[in-house]
Amino acid sequence: MNSRRSSDNLILDTALRDFYDAADYMHLDERLVAILSNSERRIDVSVPVEMEDGSAVVFKGYRVQHSTALGPSKGGIRYAMDVSGDECEGLAMLMTWKCSLGGIPYGGGKGGITCDPTKLSLKEKERMTRTYGSRISPIVGRWSDIPAPDMYTGGQEMVWIMDTICKMRGHFEPAILTGKPTDYWGAMGRTEATGRGVATCALEIMKRKNLDPSKMKIAVDGFGNVGSYTALLLKEAGAKIVAISDTSGAYYNPNGLNIEKAFEYINTNPKQKGRKLQGFEKEGCEKVSEADLLSCDCDFLAPCAVQGVINKDSAAKVKAKYIVEGANSPTTPEGEKILDDAGVIVVPDFLANAGGVIGSYFEWAQNLQGFPWTEEEYNTRLVNLMKNNFGRVWDFAEAKKVNMRRSAYVNAIKRVADVVDMRGIYL
Ligand code: NAD
Repeated sequence: MNSRRSSDNLILDTALRDFYDAADYMHLDERLVAILSNSERRIDVSVPVEMEDGSAVVFKGYRVQHSTALGPSKGGIRYAMDVSGDECEGLAMLMTWKCSLGGIPYGGGKGGITCDPTKLSLKEKERMTRTYGSRISPIVGRWSDIPAPDMYTGGQEMVWIMDTICKMRGHFEPAILTGKPTDYWGAMGRTEATGRGVATCALEIMKRKNLDPSKMKIAVDGFGNVGSYTALLLKEAGAKIVAISDTSGAYYNPNGLNIEKAFEYINTNPKQKGRKLQGFEKEGCEKVSEADLLSCDCDFLAPCAVQGVINKDSAAKVKAKYIVEGANSPTTPEGEKILDDAGVIVVPDFLANAGGVIGSYFEWAQNLQGFPWTEEEYNTRLVNLMKNNFGRVWDFAEAKKVNMRRSAYVNAIKRVADVVDMRGIYL
């Protein structure tokens, strides 16, 4: 009997296909394949909200725990119109592999509410978030499932959920979720964590390939949270950042851009959502298109904006020898095939951008201890974990002559499968 699943949800279907593909390569026991292609738990909740006009709207919410083999499930809560139970299942599975590969003691989870958050007033959003929090509370906990922010949620939503659940339980429990504001049980270092991880991967490649950072030219697509700190930290390591971009366009200088100045721009243009570099060409660089950035003369390319930018049309024009994926899924399978054939090394997203979830793990660890770490401790531990994770994937790829994505999948799945096997099929 073929027990393999498929889905008409693109995210779940892609996650399943990538998993089956790696499982076949590893000759994973079919019983483990069947177990790991299903979520351990999935709940659907209704979220009634009293709107400003007195009407009641019932939103649909979800929370999925794909795996708790390695530890409590971990994953964000997103608010968007396309959120569904199947999408959460696909994203939760990806979190399982990311946490496993990240070397942290977590399984994968995900949740969300199907809604358009831009159309809700602050009070409507608060009521919706608190009701959702109360309805998922039976499965949330510091040793069971630890939510975090995702698309259109942040520190405020986390505080509402935490406050609601703590009141229901009658005691204070900051470790039930992460992504809290820094001065309210959050962690110093989290803002830069994902970019720091991406930059660490690039520097590890340089070390292994004997490349001098001060001779490296780097292009960073997307100058948001991930891209800006990737650029800043690589510049601090001596590299030349030749191109950056946001939705206002791309900015190029073959002799290197003034990244500190670019930070001034994004901090003084906060209201220009996504277009904060608008006008940056005045700072001694040329304004070019995103396609020009992707094909510019550079050694490293860090796509840190949106998915799918390196695809069957753009991949052949990429001149970089190394790509470090800061964004989720910036390279399509067709694009990756072209890069593989051209000998370009791609550090896959769930290895390169794991700094975020590793940072969340540090926040949880500090909350459990009731004792904050210094920023320096946080950064040092993050870089050490990223180096270890990178090394494991790099060494396996070299030994088995496979690309980094294949190596990452095999390493991630193996750790979870081994634990499921060791603990017994029914966890
Ligand atoms: P962000 O919103 O802070 O920044 C996104 C940047 O990309 C902005 O500068 C925006 O202008 C730019 N952008 C959007 N569309 C673009 C386009 N077509 N061309 C060029 N630039 C474009 O988001 P972020 O938090 O930096 O996340 C970026 C990516 O990294 C997303 O895929 C996200 O899922 C992923 N990611 C983020 C984290 C994290 O901790 N923030 C962790 C893991 C993965």
